[in-house]
Amino acid sequence: MIILDGKKTSQEIRNEIADEVAALKEKGGKTPHLAVVLVGNNGASVTYVNAKLKDCEEVGFNTTMVKLSETISEKELLEEVHKLNKNKDIDGYIVQLPLPNHIDDQKVIMAIDPEKDVDGFHPQNLGKMALNLPTFLPATPMGIMDLLDRYNIETGGKHCVVVGRSHIVGLPASILMGRNHYPGNATVTLTHSRTTNLKELLKNADIIIAALGKPDFITEDMVKDGVVIIDVGTTRVVDKSKKSGYRLKGDVEFEGVSKKASYITPVPGGVGPMTRVSLLKNTLMAVRAK
Ligand code: NAP
Repeated sequence: MIILDGKKTSQEIRNEIADEVAALKEKGGKTPHLAVVLVGNNGASVTYVNAKLKDCEEVGFNTTMVKLSETISEKELLEEVHKLNKNKDIDGYIVQLPLPNHIDDQKVIMAIDPEKDVDGFHPQNLGKMALNLPTFLPATPMGIMDLLDRYNIETGGKHCVVVGRSHIVGLPASILMGRNHYPGNATVTLTHSRTTNLKELLKNADIIIAALGKPDFITEDMVKDGVVIIDVGTTRVVDKSKKSGYRLKGDVEFEGVSKKASYITPVPGGVGPMTRVSLLKNTLMAVRAK
């Protein structure tokens, strides 16, 4: 069994990006500039945003943090988005989700200039992705593809079962795995809470991408020998021994499943760090596109 080490792999990619940025600056090129919009003080969102800004610093990007009040109106937030669309120095930006309940996430995503949409959530970019055209890919599915690629995992002709159909993980991951491309060319089954024969499908899967958010949901008895496991789940469970008071748990019961798997991602240290580095890749791509 081989651990798919997202921490190590993402560090390698960050080093490559840092080298490219340094070369760009030396040639008098533009320093990539990422902006992050944070609405309110949601604990997990603040942690994610700080981590993203730290990554940018490490590779030599400029950053702008747009911190907005929890009570901002949808109209005011859309005005901020328009300002970022017009700002020529900013190459790409993200609006950290989830937004407060009184704001329509989709409306905000639709207002982002697709050429600056480094989260890859705009329908124009999702459409391009489905057509296999060059575009910003959503961060988590892109991180998964990079991990499969860096470990040279064969995906062509394999049966890939994706568990979960969210717009940010499961659905795009299923599209990418089915594209005529490497990684891809898999025969994909996209499953969700209404799937009636999940156990049977999982037992026949060569590759499982688990993104449902239910800790330890997939157990040893549900998978076959040699399966490749990509565990996206990150549920916070109480752990008094940790300073934070919690630890992250994946959707796959690691101890048992890892005995049967050929490759498996740990949680934490698997898909999470790869997701973070995808944002840097997309921002650099936005600069290159200019
Ligand atoms: P989500 O929006 O809550 O979607 C969950 C999906 O799982 C839904 O499609 C749901 O089906 C499906 N599901 C729920 N119970 C199921 C069951 N018993 N059998 C089969 N499918 C089931 O979740 P998400 O945003 O994609 O996130 C999923 C997990 O990944 C969470 O733990 C999240 O924290 C984590 N995550 C991690 C990263 C990372 O970088 N590591 C990034 C994003 C998310 P329905 O559509 O029928 O409701």
